Amino acid sequence: MPEVVITCDWTMMSNHHGKEFLGFGTTTPAYILPEQAYQKLFFPTMEVDENGYPQQAPYGMRKIEASLMDAGVDARIVHPSFLDRYMPGPAKVLMVSGHDYFGLNPPSSTFAGVMHKDPLNCVNFKRMLSLPHVLEARRQGMKLIAGGPCAWQLSPATQMKIPWIGEFVRSIGGVDSIVEGEADLYVRDLVRKALADEFLPPHVVLTPKDAPKVEEISTIRYPSVNGLIEIGRGCCRGCSFCSVTTRPTRWYPLEKIEQELKINAKIGIKKGLLHSDDVYFYGSPNVMPREDKLLPLLSLAKKHYAQVGWSHVAIASLMTRPKLLSKCAEILIDDKQSWWGVEVGVETGSPRIITAAMPGKVAPFKASQWPELVVQAAGLMNDNHVFPACTFIVGLPQETEDDVRMTIELIDRLWDFRAILVPMFFVPLGHLKNKDWFRRDRLSDVQQELLKRALSHGLRQSKTMMRDFFDWETDHARAYRATFRGFVGFLEVIAKMNGLWSTPRHPADSIRDPNLYPDRLPIPTIPMRE
Ligand code: SF4
Repeated sequence: MPEVVITCDWTMMSNHHGKEFLGFGTTTPAYILPEQAYQKLFFPTMEVDENGYPQQAPYGMRKIEASLMDAGVDARIVHPSFLDRYMPGPAKVLMVSGHDYFGLNPPSSTFAGVMHKDPLNCVNFKRMLSLPHVLEARRQGMKLIAGGPCAWQLSPATQMKIPWIGEFVRSIGGVDSIVEGEADLYVRDLVRKALADEFLPPHVVLTPKDAPKVEEISTIRYPSVNGLIEIGRGCCRGCSFCSVTTRPTRWYPLEKIEQELKINAKIGIKKGLLHSDDVYFYGSPNVMPREDKLLPLLSLAKKHYAQVGWSHVAIASLMTRPKLLSKCAEILIDDKQSWWGVEVGVETGSPRIITAAMPGKVAPFKASQWPELVVQAAGLMNDNHVFPACTFIVGLPQETEDDVRMTIELIDRLWDFRAILVPMFFVPLGHLKNKDWFRRDRLSDVQQELLKRALSHGLRQSKTMMRDFFDWETDHARAYRATFRGFVGFLEVIAKMNGLWSTPRHPADSIRDPNLYPDRLPIPTIPMRE
C-alpha cells in the first residue's frame, strides 16, 4: 500500500478515446447536454487494475512517480475513483496534478467566459478534492501537495485575485505545499519532509537553475496516456505570454526515448505522441531544424508505434526547412497511418503584435512576413497530411482593433485549411504574468466576430476531417464517428440559431493554389538551408 498517492481528476485520467485532441473537450462546460454525455464523448474512464492503479496515466505524473520510486519512496498513481482504498488510511501524502485546475487557462477560460459556466476540468477537480474520504484523511493529518503546469492557479497571488478559489481552498482545509516549475528533483526532498511530518514550504517557485539535467530526469516506470513521451524540454523563442520560454532547452538522447517507447509498446499502445515545445527542432541548439537528428527520431518512434503524432511545432520552424516535412511524411505515412496531428501557435494575423509580444516566434523570418508564412505553412502541412490544431490569442495587452481585423483576414485566408482553429483569451503567464486577465465583458464587436469566424471554420472543417480522425475501421469507430458527426451538427445548429455562425464575406485566396507553395515563399533576404 503506497504511502504517497499521486492523482488527478477524471477529465485528465482518461485516454480520450486514444485521441489526445479530444481532451480539449474537457475544457468546455457541460452545455445543454448532461455531464455524462460529455464524459462519454471526451473523457471515458481509464482501465485500472485491482489496486486502482490506472493502465495509463498522464505523462508528467508518471515522471514524478518514477522520480519518487527511483529515490526509494513508496509512491503510486491511483485513479481518482479508487482513492477511498487509500484514505483515510495508509496514504500519508496526496499529490495532485493538473493542466488547468480551475479552468483559468486557455481555452477553458474562453469557453467558461462565453458560456458563463465552470468548465468540466474545474468541476471535476473541485469534486475530487471534496470527496468525503479525502476530506476525512485531511482532517486526520494527510498532507496535500499540488503541482503540475497549472500549480500557479493555487498560489496565494491567484487566491487573492480570484476570491472563490481562496474560499474553495479553505473549504478543503488548505494545501500544504504548492510547487511551480520542474520539480523532478525537488519533489523527492519535499515528500521525505511530508512523510516525516516536517514543515513544508507553502509555495515554491522553482527557477531555471533548479531544472534537472537530462541525465537527472527519471524514465517512466509505467505507461503514459496515449503513448505520449517527452523528447525534450524548453523553448528558445521567448514569447512574452508563455511560461515554457523561461526553461532551458534540453533534448533527450534516443536511448532514453526508446526506453519509454518500449514501456508503452509493451502493453500494446500502438499510437503515440512525441512531446516537446517544437518537435521539428529535436536535437537543435538554435532555431534551425536538424534533419540528421529529427529523421532518426521519427524512425525510432515508428519502430515502436504504428501511428506517431507530434505535440507542438512552430510555423517558422516548418518554413525554415519546408522540404524536411515531406521527408518526415515519408517516414510516418504508410498503410497504418494516413495523417498526423500537431498543435501550432498562430496566435495572431498582425505583424505588429508579433513584434510587440512574440518577436522570437517568427525567427529567422521578419515579422512583416508572418501572415504569408502562416498561409504557406498551412498549405505545407495539409500537403504532407498534417492536420493541426492552431491556437489564436484574443486580448493580448498590446492588441488593437486593427490587429484583430488582421487576424480575421488571416482566418479567411485559411478557410479551406484542414485544421481546427482554437481562439483563446489572454491569460497572464510568463513575462506578462502581472497583467490583467482578458474577460468576456471586454469583448469588442470585432473580437466577437473573430470568435464566431474561428468557431464556424472549426465546425466546417471538423466534418471534413471526421473520416481521417476516426480512421480505424471497426463498428466501434463507426459508432463514434456517427456520434461525433451528430455532435458537430448539433453545435452547428446551435451556433446558427444563436447568431454565432460567420463566414468570410469575400472568397479568400485558397491555400490549395499551387502557385502559393512553395515557389512564392516570401523570404528574399533569408537564406534557405535546403
Ligand atoms: S514558441 Fe510556443 S513554446 Fe516557445 S515561447 Fe513561444 S509560445 Fe512558448
